Amino acid sequence: MSLIDLMTMAKPNRELREKLYSRLWRVHPDECFQCMRCTSGCTSLKLLELKPHEIILLASSGFIEELASSDIIWACASCLKCRERCPQKASPYDVIIALRNLAVEREAKIPEHYMKAVAQILDNGLTENVQTVTSRKMEPFDREKLRLPSIQYPDDRFKAVFMEILGG
Ligand code: SF4
Ligand code: SF4
Repeated sequence: MSLIDLMTMAKPNRELREKLYSRLWRVHPDECFQCMRCTSGCTSLKLLELKPHEIILLASSGFIEELASSDIIWACASCLKCRERCPQKASPYDVIIALRNLAVEREAKIPEHYMKAVAQILDNGLTENVQTVTSRKMEPFDREKLRLPSIQYPDDRFKAVFMEILGG
């Protein structure tokens, strides 16, 4: 069942829609005319069935609660193509980020890989673990060997600010 089909059973919430809109800056979902330029270039469309034009339609129709509790908003790869391609400044990307923030506030279920990324940032300031790469001749290279600067591990102040931003 598509996201649109699911919404036929839901009730729009205008108040929540205004709350979402108040978090958008220079983005106007109501001006979307469903040209689908966003969806035709979306990085996550093929793999994860994310259709940004549907997100905009549902958000502007007031189905905020349903979107904020849906897994689909976490499928966005933040490539920003939809924002660049949109002729109407409706920017699905910005709407998706605002929906994610709302989801966190409402304590909706957050995908595990996001929580892992948060733990990783607290540990070394990066979203991924520090990697060693291997050359074609199977020679391992770490950061030092590649003459890359060493990792600046986060101090307590960074952690405190980060947790404050997360609302922890
Ligand atoms: S968000 Fe922009 S690009 Fe996407 S359907 Fe609406 S007007 Fe078109
Ligand atoms: S930012 Fe997200 S929604 Fe927009 S095109 Fe990229 S993956 Fe798709």
